[in-house]
Amino acid sequence: MKLSKLASDIAESPTFALNEEARLLKERGEAVINLGIGEPKNKTPIAAVLASGAKLTNGDVKYTPPDGLPSMKKAVIRYTEENYNRLVAPENVIITNGAKQSLYNIFYSILNPQDEVIVIAPYWVSYPEMIKMCMGIPVIVTPEDGTFTPRYEDIERAVTSSTRAIIVNSPNNPSGAVYPAGLIEKIVDLCERKGIYMICDDIYHKLTFDKVTSQPAWSFTKKDVENTNIIVVNGVAKLYGMTGFRIGWVAAPRHLIKVMTNVLAQTTSCVSPIAQAAAEGALNGLQSVVEALRLQIQNNRDVLLQEMKTFNGARLIEPHGTFYALPDLRAFGGSSVELSKFLLKKALVVTVPGKEFGMEGHIRISFAGSVKDVTDGIARIKWALDATSPNEIYIGDKKLVRDWM
Ligand code: PMP
Repeated sequence: MKLSKLASDIAESPTFALNEEARLLKERGEAVINLGIGEPKNKTPIAAVLASGAKLTNGDVKYTPPDGLPSMKKAVIRYTEENYNRLVAPENVIITNGAKQSLYNIFYSILNPQDEVIVIAPYWVSYPEMIKMCMGIPVIVTPEDGTFTPRYEDIERAVTSSTRAIIVNSPNNPSGAVYPAGLIEKIVDLCERKGIYMICDDIYHKLTFDKVTSQPAWSFTKKDVENTNIIVVNGVAKLYGMTGFRIGWVAAPRHLIKVMTNVLAQTTSCVSPIAQAAAEGALNGLQSVVEALRLQIQNNRDVLLQEMKTFNGARLIEPHGTFYALPDLRAFGGSSVELSKFLLKKALVVTVPGKEFGMEGHIRISFAGSVKDVTDGIARIKWALDATSPNEIYIGDKKLVRDWM
């Protein structure tokens, strides 16, 4: 039977595919270390558990309005005021099934066939595929070799009469780069001058280290939310470690939210009220959970930096946010896919090939897990790639054998 060409051409999600491979290996009793997954190991914040539990207990689990429960929107409005210093109306907000659905619905709602979206490399794997699913064309802007921050001139040069949006993800998955405020300011100005959307994927916005902060795009415009081209995407997955609840949201001018609401209503109807109640609980609960998570991740990042110091041949630009590092491993061969496969087979460590993020020769290492995962995982990678290391080694309680030499 025939399938849609458009759908068949969409690439498999490499992170989910690798996770599945790791899970199967673990099931076979292999001591796999997963440095591929982008989720913290924390338990769900108690305020979220209690709020969703209460929703379940009272049995009021029905469809919600397609744009979200009014009380959840209220929590987002408050969050936006507190964290962005911006007042948004309920009509400026939509609650979605994860930030992923926010992004897909945005692309679906703003793109006509062949419209272009500027995507800055290294980029989150799903952007180009989502844009293609919506019949748009991803236009990739790559920073100068050895950096993860794009040059403004290259972004400006990529704008054509078909450009509809620029997507900015800072703090950045997969590099951990936090773009300088001056760059954000210039992109805001460019989008305003050219009449194109600036999509800010802010899913990691509070996960920054060393007093580096990510400056919101809204802070660089005098226009109110209703009249800007700025679209802000956020969610509870990363900051609250609530990946499984699948709650994201968008704050944007109401004409866009209205179209997105119709798209959501006709595709998934609404977001589960149990998950919305959980997210509402998290947003209204003690915010020290976010800071505790940030500190734990920062500590993991420090451990990673320490371990990387003795990794001969690897070049790392220090991550200032998120929970990812993207070392340059070109010294060990050009293909990141081969490198990742090799590391999984020989060192039983899951990493994600940089090729998937538009950065060939690099691999993404997640430090969202435990300190032990980070230290043992990097020790194994160093052992596997260093030609002078012994053929047999114990790392932690795992004996590794380099029979490939
Ligand atoms: N944007 C980026 C940059 C991400 O890394 C992720 C999750 N990996 C998402 C969006 C999607 O988040 P959610 O789980 O809320 O769909």
